[in-house]
Amino acid sequence: LFVTFEGGDGAGKTTQAMLLQDWAVAQGRTVVRTREPGGSEVGELIRDIVLHHRGEVAPRAEALLYAADRAHHIATVVRPALQRGEIVIQDRYLDSSVAYQGAGRVLDSGEVRELSLWAAEGLLPDITVLLDVDPATARGRIDADDKPFDRLEAEHGSFHERVREAFLTLAGNEPERFLVLDASRPVDELAAAVRAKVDEVLSR
Ligand code: C5P
Ligand code: MG
Repeated sequence: LFVTFEGGDGAGKTTQAMLLQDWAVAQGRTVVRTREPGGSEVGELIRDIVLHHRGEVAPRAEALLYAADRAHHIATVVRPALQRGEIVIQDRYLDSSVAYQGAGRVLDSGEVRELSLWAAEGLLPDITVLLDVDPATARGRIDADDKPFDRLEAEHGSFHERVREAFLTLAGNEPERFLVLDASRPVDELAAAVRAKVDEVLSR
């Protein structure tokens, strides 16, 4: 089972991914919790480039770096785990590329999606949890460290608003895959909703 968490910066994806992992492990499942960008040794090098040289990298080059990270991560970490029958819980995947590199950086969303699917040899998640968040709320949750939220907002104006809208459009296009949750709800309520969805899909 391949579960991804998507949503804007500060939506609480990492927290929910950890809570789902704890629950699945308690159920006796083997879980790989991972992330993009990053999630492999090579991927962490690419993550360093895209996060710390952000704004310097041309938009298409940035999209290709995310795609390169994805291609390597899916081939070496995610597919092998899925083939072993494990649950993969992933913080961000191709929907983030469509939202950030597509709508955010104003590349063509369809092209960015095709690039991602090519990189991942067509792998789509079984479940994608979209933690929908108002950028103003999210801002308060960010720990400044490796999250240059304010800088981006200043540079790109409505960047985070476009990203949010793009995620909601993606979810509307694939209602079977997506579970959309209001990220301002209490953490434990969100976790319960995620567990219910995972349980439902596992018992199909
Ligand atoms: O979710 P995480 O903290 O790992 O994201 C790191 C940063 O990379 C975030 O600021 C996010 O907005 C950005 N990002 C991006 N394009 C992606 C994925 C993440 O700009 N495809
Ligand atoms: Mg996070």
